Amino acid sequence: MLEAERRAVAEHSSALADLTPGRTGNLSVRAGDSVAITPTGVAYDEIGPEDVPVVSLAGDHEFGSLEASSETPMHCGIYETFDAGAVVHTHSDYATTLAVLGDPLPPVHYMVAFAGETVPVADYATYGTRELADNAVGAMERADSGACLLANHGLVATGTDAADAVETARAVESVARVYCQARSIGDPVELDSEEMATVAEKFGSYGQPSAVDGS
Ligand code: 13P
Ligand code: ZN
Repeated sequence: MLEAERRAVAEHSSALADLTPGRTGNLSVRAGDSVAITPTGVAYDEIGPEDVPVVSLAGDHEFGSLEASSETPMHCGIYETFDAGAVVHTHSDYATTLAVLGDPLPPVHYMVAFAGETVPVADYATYGTRELADNAVGAMERADSGACLLANHGLVATGTDAADAVETARAVESVARVYCQARSIGDPVELDSEEMATVAEKFGSYGQPSAVDGS
């Protein structure tokens, strides 16, 4: 069941090992009404495709011998609301630094556009709860952002697939670091909405053009 998605979760979970301490964080990939998600409390370098559980969008166990991440309600809540193909949650250092301050990440660098115009902060709730899921979904909806900080906890980022969600999490963490450093020595300058909209549009055609079949 969901073989390709379980392989993608196992492959990209190694990225979590250098983004988030210990066994914190989790990663999921959606296909239709099912979600392949990292198992709870397992070290990332030990996860193979056979270790990746599958749950329904309602969070019910569908496949695998290991128990799904404790943050399954947050992943499923995001898939219920947004057109995302993958979700990554981390406790990466600088995003979490802002999260404990209760400060959103403003558009101080164009790379924030990986997520949106800003990365908002969701109100605190205990990890793994439906309340945390609702707070995260609400914050992302209000800010029209593909990522949010979780107050006193960490970061959640979405993408079209696992690689894209990990790239968004890395972009947010990188800008959060720059923002924390800049704030420690001065007053960071923000880009305006018009410029962030221009960047978001340019991102649509960023990179190498796709190969065209038969040419
Ligand atoms: P899991 O090991 O259950 O995925 O939980 C890690 C975490 O970061 C909870 O917020
Ligand atoms: Zn967490």
